[in-house]
Amino acid sequence: MTRRYALVVVAILAAGCSSAPPERQVVDDAAAALGGASRIQALTSLQITGSGSAPNAGQNRMPDDELPVWKVTEHTRAIDLANGRTRVQQFREAQFQFAGATTQRVTQGLDGVVAYNAAPDGTLTRAGEAAARDRRVELLHHPITVVRAALDPAAKLANPRAEGGMQLVDITTALGDTVTLAIDQSTHLPSRVVSMSDNANMGDVAIVTMFSDYEEVEGVKLPRKLTTMMDKYLQFDLQVSKNAVNGNVADLAAPDNVKSAPAPTPPPVVVTVEPVAKGIWWLAGSGNHRSVVFEFDDHLVLYEVPVNEARSKAVIDKARTLSPKPLTTAIVSHHHFDHSGGLRVAVAEDLTIVTHRANEAFFKDLLARPHTIVPDALQMNPKAAKFEWVDDQMTLKDKSMEVRLYHLLDNTREGTNIYAYVPRDRILVQADLYDASWNQHLWGENVLTNLSERKLRIDRDVPVHGVIEPFAQMVKTIKAKPTIAGTN
Ligand SMILES: [Zn+2]
Ligand SMILES: [Zn+2]
Repeated sequence: MTRRYALVVVAILAAGCSSAPPERQVVDDAAAALGGASRIQALTSLQITGSGSAPNAGQNRMPDDELPVWKVTEHTRAIDLANGRTRVQQFREAQFQFAGATTQRVTQGLDGVVAYNAAPDGTLTRAGEAAARDRRVELLHHPITVVRAALDPAAKLANPRAEGGMQLVDITTALGDTVTLAIDQSTHLPSRVVSMSDNANMGDVAIVTMFSDYEEVEGVKLPRKLTTMMDKYLQFDLQVSKNAVNGNVADLAAPDNVKSAPAPTPPPVVVTVEPVAKGIWWLAGSGNHRSVVFEFDDHLVLYEVPVNEARSKAVIDKARTLSPKPLTTAIVSHHHFDHSGGLRVAVAEDLTIVTHRANEAFFKDLLARPHTIVPDALQMNPKAAKFEWVDDQMTLKDKSMEVRLYHLLDNTREGTNIYAYVPRDRILVQADLYDASWNQHLWGENVLTNLSERKLRIDRDVPVHGVIEPFAQMVKTIKAKPTIAGTN
């Protein structure tokens, strides 16, 4: 070879390399590392079997404690790559004190843009649009599916960049879903997929799945470990026991009756009013999170702003119809996400937050977080929060009303829980201490000990979950039901 000819070859090779734009190069490199674009595009199916753990964010005893964990003993995901269908089946066991069924089987499917769920008896029903969107994006949290989606000529690739030993590229799929793919700078194997999502409590959160421990199966590289984080919390840690490709996946299509059914929309928020005693109202209605309004001389106080902004705003609006006195205060029973989902809207509505002092750092963080994906009232109209911290107890009292607040002590599940007692009417107002419909009352004896040590004389339980009951019935139910985990 002459020197001149060699230079020409080098020039052609260099031209060949630079012909792919850098965003495309990331995808091509990933495809090559995984076994080649044509091999990946020719795959018809994937079957992933394994086990792992799935922690429950926002349900720990104290805001900084370890999260309670579901142990996923069986996890099977079947993916029909050619038709954009998937089904995930899981069997999970609660590793924490849980009042509901401590073993659960979950089956969720996706057929194109139609999401569906399976009941324990196998009946399939259509799930809502939000579930379909979430599952479409979740399906992209795997090296093969994300690279296939990126190789689709209809996909848009953008913003190639280097970060922490990885090459990153943003991918907008043909269906309009956006994820970021990161590949390892040296091996070129996908190291993670990131998507942004809205969480009612935490606002904008990154969902990140990290891939590791790759193995080769029939000419393609597949990860044996997939670790998914939601923001700072571990969401699912999957250890794969078997990766299979091109196997016979069962028919994953949604049946015609599921496809033709309209996607269910979230049920409307309904707030009903039930007077409990003079100047005390129980706000129930849709869902199973109730609130209680107390009327003082010149203002109203609300116990509990639960679930999310929609529920809590409706409750706040309803409370304001009960009296011309201003609603000034929201007592937040504890930090669990379903009980603090209205924290931000309560601040946006100028309510002073009364809660246990141990929630301070956690609540201030929730109030400071951006909610740009689904802007909420506080995002659109930022306000400084006003807090009153409860330690062991606090009494709210004037000529019209006396409400005593107590911290629930030594409870294995509820570390920041504040319940209320109205001495005039002998009413207990509580969240998560007791619900008549629970399968078991694992911390019921602790609750009864708390109430008797505070020397409360209670006639009625006015709960956040469940129904108003005579206190004697509550005691009877706690004492009658088994208190051993797993009996449900
Ligand atoms: Zn709770
Ligand atoms: Zn609850």
